[in-house]
Amino acid sequence: MIDTNNITKDEQFFGIVQEGKFKVFAPQRLEGDLVRLTPMAEKEAKSPESDEIDLSGYEGKIIEVSGEASSGWIYSAKVVEEAGPVLSDFLRKVFCKEDVTKKKCALVIGHKKDSPGGLNEKNNINEFEFNEKLVPLIEEKVKNTNVQRVYRRTYAGLPGDINSLGADFVVGLHCNTGDGTVSGSEVSYHHKSLKGRILAEILLKHLTACLELPDRGAKTRSAEDKGGYLLCYTEAPCVIAEPFFIDNDEDLTRAMKDLDGLAEAFAKALDEFSAALKVEEQEHSIAV
Ligand SMILES: [Zn+2]
Repeated sequence: MIDTNNITKDEQFFGIVQEGKFKVFAPQRLEGDLVRLTPMAEKEAKSPESDEIDLSGYEGKIIEVSGEASSGWIYSAKVVEEAGPVLSDFLRKVFCKEDVTKKKCALVIGHKKDSPGGLNEKNNINEFEFNEKLVPLIEEKVKNTNVQRVYRRTYAGLPGDINSLGADFVVGLHCNTGDGTVSGSEVSYHHKSLKGRILAEILLKHLTACLELPDRGAKTRSAEDKGGYLLCYTEAPCVIAEPFFIDNDEDLTRAMKDLDGLAEAFAKALDEFSAALKVEEQEHSIAV
């Protein structure tokens, strides 16, 4: 006789990873449910929390999972595969209806792990590390904007990579460097972009209100200037944020003291500019 208790009937699930949980698209009976994943079988005596699959590496991605669904969990769960970009785009449009009405911001982490930009020697922290820490906090706090995190592969390929995402606007995250004593916040935009200037002014307003460092202004850059290449060759309005000087110990201390506050300032600026873009869409009143 077959012991039916030992038969596992694995099912396939499609969904998106949101804030570490798996939001189910299919099968339909579970559509919209947020579930958690464990490799444990349901019958095991332990609580599934003790062996939850960490989905943080899949944040924002659409994945296929196999397993058995039961009361908020998928047991015997396995991540089968990550959907490719074309399928992901399609599924997102079908299932994440709120997402298509939101403006998309490409949030670009300046520099790379192996060429990390400006450095604060005393605290041994560089631009790349600082901004990589900041980005998840911004993503958490943003309300009305789809944030797409972008890492730099090569500087030459960066505008093309960003353009392929179809973002509505672009924010590059950097820190300034000087002689160790210069202090303040600035945001740059391309000299021909009116929307870039508006975004720069909105962002700078929130950054200076948060950090209370000297306001160095919204600055124009042309293609030849530092950072101008990115500002010039991205199709969407683009700014480069330098909220403080990383080689100035006092500036860095100010920024590190309230990282959540700084992330909140970015999030507010992103949402404010998204709202402005929506108004503009209705009125067609702002020229590019
Ligand atoms: Zn930089």
